[in-house]
Amino acid sequence: MLTSSQRQLLRVISESGPLSRTVLAAAMGLSKATMSGIARDLIALGILHETETVYGQGRPSILLDLHPEGAFFVGISLLQDPGPIVLCDLNGKIIARKNMPLSRDPEVIAGGIAEALPRLLAGRPDVAEKLSSLGVALSGFVDEKQANCVQSTLLGWQDVPLAKIIRQKTGIETFIENDAKALAVSEKLFGIARDIQNFSVVSFGEGIGCAHFIRGKLYRGNHGGAGEIAHCTIEPDGPPCRCGKRGCLDTVASIKAIKEMSKAGSLSCTSLAELEQEASAGNVVAVRILHRAGGALGLAIAHLIQFNDPGMVLITHVEGNFHGLLGTVVREAIEANVLPRYAGQTPVRTQRIDGDIWARGAASIAAHNFLIGPNPN
Ligand SMILES: [Zn+2]
Repeated sequence: MLTSSQRQLLRVISESGPLSRTVLAAAMGLSKATMSGIARDLIALGILHETETVYGQGRPSILLDLHPEGAFFVGISLLQDPGPIVLCDLNGKIIARKNMPLSRDPEVIAGGIAEALPRLLAGRPDVAEKLSSLGVALSGFVDEKQANCVQSTLLGWQDVPLAKIIRQKTGIETFIENDAKALAVSEKLFGIARDIQNFSVVSFGEGIGCAHFIRGKLYRGNHGGAGEIAHCTIEPDGPPCRCGKRGCLDTVASIKAIKEMSKAGSLSCTSLAELEQEASAGNVVAVRILHRAGGALGLAIAHLIQFNDPGMVLITHVEGNFHGLLGTVVREAIEANVLPRYAGQTPVRTQRIDGDIWARGAASIAAHNFLIGPNPN
């Protein structure tokens, strides 16, 4: 267990990258001697190491950074079948990967993880020794202790103490998290949002997920449901949604909705890429669908910008062509619906993600708890 001052140091480095002892001491508001003592202990633990020497004015300074092999984490995604199970280092890099069959039975999931772990760690006793904890990403609501799944429609769960069940089977400390929130933590620890305190992630896929970091912390709200833009009503009296309401963003702008609209419009497109091709060839039905979906997603993101004034909105997508008509309409709808003084002020970035992103996000939940500690509001 790390001390709070050790975690403070690790947090500063995880947000800034390698730093000299002088800069670290200033950032932490400590004397250089006190900070150096904390750093010495972390170096002895193998979590911190000295990297390059920087030559500038005065004495050359040595930079301190996280040691990639200082600790290891396992991440599991319950969003795919088979579910990827990955082993990540302290830089968030995947160093091993296996698959395990997905189940809706928590005991079976825990048993599958316990069975997959030796395969994942095979031939790496050094890694097994430094295995810190395990993270699980799932679709649904998770409590603030990252231990219980409060509700998951996809898995058919209500109040499932999944972390405890997995810990009992594997003997490894376990944290669980909502998929979009895990993705946001991953981007904060290891990705594009490392030095951004306020940002939102919108995951655009079969469904739409969303999560926010506010003042450098994951914001989950009172019931773990903060940022669920998928079920914001975007078309009053629109199509029925699986949540029981009508006209939710998910029913208009998700990939699932886009495919359903294509089918209803008698288009043979089976992917967004094909629909984009149809639109660029002048098919008016395809153009209309992309305008409807993109306009809805852009409007929801404009609301999000209006509510939170984030330093960045990151849209992640699995499709390769967010730069087509859909992406253009989304950007136009954002600009058209935010207050004029906000227009163009919030960077909206897009990032293509692969199938391992959720398992890596899950591992980052474990890494976040190791480096920074619990993250209550
Ligand atoms: Zn809904």
